[in-house]
Parts: sequence; C-alpha cells; structure tokens
Amino acid sequence: MAIRNLGSGVPVDQVLKDLESFRSHDVRWRDGRCFTLAYSISPEVLSLAEEAYRRYSGENALNTSAFPSLRRMQQDVVDIVSGWVNGDDSTAGFMTSGGTESLVLVVRAAQKRAEREGRNLSRMNMVLPTSAHAALEKGADYFGVESRRIPVTSDWRADVVAMRAAIDDETILVVGSAPSYPQGVIDPIAEIAALADERNINCHVDACMGGVTLPFLAQLGESITPWDFRCVGVTSISVDLHKYGYTSKGAGVLLHRDKTLRNDQTFITDNWLGGMYGSSGILGTKSGGPIASAWAVMHHLGNNGYLAATQSARTSAIAIANHIENNPQLRLRAFPDSTLLSFGVTDENRHDVFALADALIAKGWYMDKQGPPASIHLTVNASHAPMVGAFLNDLDEALLSLGGHKGSDGAYATTE
Ligand SMILES: *Cc1c(COP(=O)(O)O)cnc(C)c1O
Repeated sequence: MAIRNLGSGVPVDQVLKDLESFRSHDVRWRDGRCFTLAYSISPEVLSLAEEAYRRYSGENALNTSAFPSLRRMQQDVVDIVSGWVNGDDSTAGFMTSGGTESLVLVVRAAQKRAEREGRNLSRMNMVLPTSAHAALEKGADYFGVESRRIPVTSDWRADVVAMRAAIDDETILVVGSAPSYPQGVIDPIAEIAALADERNINCHVDACMGGVTLPFLAQLGESITPWDFRCVGVTSISVDLHKYGYTSKGAGVLLHRDKTLRNDQTFITDNWLGGMYGSSGILGTKSGGPIASAWAVMHHLGNNGYLAATQSARTSAIAIANHIENNPQLRLRAFPDSTLLSFGVTDENRHDVFALADALIAKGWYMDKQGPPASIHLTVNASHAPMVGAFLNDLDEALLSLGGHKGSDGAYATTE
C-alpha cells in the first residue's frame, strides 16, 4: 500500500463538512427508526450529552488524582447507580467503557478471587445460561476459563436446576441477566445467586440493559421480582449508561458488593521502569468525555426524566409485543420483562423472518437479526413512541408482501 501523505492539511470547515457527509448511509437512530445500537430521548438531551463530552474529551481518567473533577463525577455516577440497584454503604465500583469491559473484568475478577482464596484450580469454569451476553465468552477466551453454557428453559429463562448440576469444584462464577439481551426476560436471579452463596463463588448479574429501566419500572408500580443486591449471593452487577441512561457511548458501571471484591477487578504493577501503574479497568488512558456526559445527563434528567423515559419505552415495547402476539403468523419469543423483545414466524416454510427484517430495513428501519432461533430483535427506547404506529404498519405490509416467499442470505447481524 502506498504511504499516505496528508499534504498541507484541510481547512476546518471542509473537514467538518466531510464528517457530516460520511453519515448519509448510517442508520437513522435519532429519528426513532433504529431498534438497536443507539438510544435517544430528545435532541436537547443528546446535545447536552455531546457538549459535556466535548468539554472533557481531553481529560484523562487514568489518573483521577490529576483530575479531581473526573474522580468526583465518577464517584457521583457510581453512587447513583448503586442506589438504583439497592447497594449499601459497602457497595463499591468504577465506571467502565461499557458492558463488554464490565463483563470481561467480571471473568477476571472471579479468577482472581479464586487465586486470592488459595483455591488451586487447574482449569476454572463459569456456568451460565445460553442467553447470557457474548462478551462473557470474550472474557473466558482472554483468560482461559471454560464456558459452560446451559440451555434456557421453555420460557427462555436460566435453568437453575441444570446450572446447579453443571457446577463443580472448579467453578468460579455463575451469571444471570436482568434482562437477557436475546429474549428480554429476567433470569431467576435469587436462585442463581443462592447457588453461588452455597459455594462461596461469584455471582454476576448482567443488568447492562435493565439496570436503569427496572428500578424505574418498579417506581412506576410494576412488580418485578428482586434481581439486584437484595438477592443474597449476588457479588457484582453491571449497568450500562450508554444504553438506557441515554448518555454518550463509552459509559458503564461495574459494582461489587464490597471493596475486597472490587480489588479483584483492579490491576497494579511496578514491574517496569516507569513506576507504580494502576488502573481500574482494561483501558489505560481513558477519556473524561463519557464520565462528564453521564454525569451531566443523569443530573439533567433526574428521577422524573428517567421515569418518563422508562414509561415511554415500556409503553412502546408493550404495544409492539401485543401487536405481534395478535398476529398468528408471527411468534413472540417471550413477553418482555422490560423493553427488549424478539419474534420469529409461525410457519418457517411460508415466511422467512430474515427476509422480513430485510424488507423492514429497506423501508428505512433498522434492527438486529439473531438466532438461534431465527428472530428479529428489537431494543425499544424513548425515541420510538412517535414511531410505533408507522413501524407496525410497515411490519404488517412487509409481511403481506413476503407471503410464501423465501429469500434471504440468513446472515446474522452483529448484535449488541
Ligand atoms: C449491550 C450488552 C452488553 C455489552 O455491552 P457493550 O456496551 O455493547 O459493550 C452486555 N450485556 C447485555 C445484556 C447487553 O445488552
């Protein structure tokens, strides 16, 4: 490849124009036409998030002693999220760059705990339902932990009896989701946590999706079985803010039941010529942008803002779920416990669900294709309320136009 010469540079105006023009084929998430990957409440909240990000984008959270501003905002964000998930004075955590970093750290922390407690294990394993997020596989791959995936039950929730049977002396971690990404249901967390409590091993609750939504659904009067630190045996919880916290990308929180467990996630060394080096997560240099953005949006929205956003997303998700349930050609995988749902087709010889997804994408919507089983996945957020009617219309039309036809490469999209 030729060496690129950037020449004398391009004027600011032109560079910014180019940036805008690059967007023309991106998914239209700001208009409520995208059911994955991006989240929005309103243009005002979005511009606050962007402005806060801009102001702190160059600050470095690697060393918060140099940036007390970031330490203070991070602590504030962590404390707020801890309250949402029923933490107490012992609960301790850090911000991460999102769910993947949180889950990779969870695998490593479980391993470190086993080492710290003197368990001499030749091959460590983790036991988790097939519905738990792919990033846990990434952690298992990075650290050489065996992943024991246990099939979910017919209602798509973790099979606790089968999980118990899969646990042995080399198990270091069990996991449940609140809710799971693929079918949007909450696992029986109290029972999974009890398995961990019996054995004194870690139990992680992946609330990357539900960590903001579920506390506010409870405040809105929905009855939700306990899934957080109220469950004895839960040792850590991950909550993403760049999803239903509606902040800029790169913001999650990983909470531990106490500081000893939190220590298992951090890394410190002086085994080089550059002095003491410590970090709370995987990254070294870490932009202050996501921290400031999260702090700003959370304080701006407040309790009332999150209540309204949660109510809006939940109402839209229920409307979509009911519409799908009422169409005998479609099969809702599970009634959503929060704001995520997936559905397939009843007669796979007659309809191809991925062709249906492609038809909707051709109409300007965007969504994930997932499987098994072959399904359309929708993550419903506050931007969708004005669009639900139009979306359901297009869904019905697309289904009609596809009657009896097959015709899709069946490729799975990259899901969140
Ligand atoms: C999105 C998601 C993750 C991964 O988070 P990223 O922020 O995409 O890295 C993990 N678990 C669940 C349940 C998720 O929905």
